[in-house]
Amino acid sequence: MTADDAPSKSIDSDEPETAAADERIYHLDGELVPASEATVSVDDRGFRYGDGAFETLRAYGGQLYEWGAHADRLEATCDAIDLAHGLSRTELRQRIEATLAANDLVDAYVRLSITRGVQPGKLTPQPVTDPTVVVMVKPLPRGGLEGKPVWDGPATLQTVKRRRIPDDALPADAKTHNYLNGILARTELHDADEALVRDLEGYVAEGATSNVFFVDEEGLHTPTTETDVLPGITRRVVLDLARKAGIPTHEDWYRPIDVRQADEVFLTNTTWEVRPVATVDAIDLEGEYGDDDTTDGPPVTTLLAKLYDERVERRCYSD
Ligand code: PMP
Repeated sequence: MTADDAPSKSIDSDEPETAAADERIYHLDGELVPASEATVSVDDRGFRYGDGAFETLRAYGGQLYEWGAHADRLEATCDAIDLAHGLSRTELRQRIEATLAANDLVDAYVRLSITRGVQPGKLTPQPVTDPTVVVMVKPLPRGGLEGKPVWDGPATLQTVKRRRIPDDALPADAKTHNYLNGILARTELHDADEALVRDLEGYVAEGATSNVFFVDEEGLHTPTTETDVLPGITRRVVLDLARKAGIPTHEDWYRPIDVRQADEVFLTNTTWEVRPVATVDAIDLEGEYGDDDTTDGPPVTTLLAKLYDERVERRCYSD
């Protein structure tokens, strides 16, 4: 297990455990190839400059969860970095489905990457004539409430000094190959699983690879997407579920103290789903996950995790 989905202290990736990676089949530029042969040029702009867009998705029961939302965000990323790759959503989806089928996978982690490819010249991008398009998949059991989540326990969260790159410098809603901001945030962690990253003005933005939520007497809170935050797809689903469950939701500007003083805190991303937080800056949250862990867990987080799981069930496992 690695960073995006396990309580590991590593910073290396947002991918689940890699078992027998070389036996898997990936999709590279229109062809299904063994993972060990899925290589791109050292001149690829994705390698040279981080000049690429990607999405991390999950397949549950053979269904690509929230495909439309991921395809929309990929499109937004490509628009933001002016990467006109020329592939339709249908084509991209077919490539993902072909890769899952080739690996005989129904419950999987999926990563779809598109770069500007190899181009003549240096930094200035040219019109894209030969993008690099890669689909990687890995087995990822459903988890959910009945199964084993990808993480081993509630997360520990630490406010870091590193600030989120402002939207004016790099569009915050673009999910690009350049994750140095998150990597540097994670390198500051001492014995914590995820970084609490602020914007330049000190408002809470998000985690290195997750969105942050907290609960207090007013309801559920998460930083507004007007701050420098990647609009997570899990974030949107969770807000929707909370509203439907009658939980008051607030998207606003917050300071780390608001998170520290909350009754409950949790993180969301595609692989973690809803991951409870036990401590923020080494402070226990209201004892929910303290040393004496005799409760059934934080009530709102537990409810939302259950509703999330039921939604996965409805969308992907019932006919
Ligand atoms: N913020 C950042 C910086 C991320 O990398 C991720 C993971 N993609 C998220 C938030 C959560 O997004 P999602 O729910 O779409 O996985």
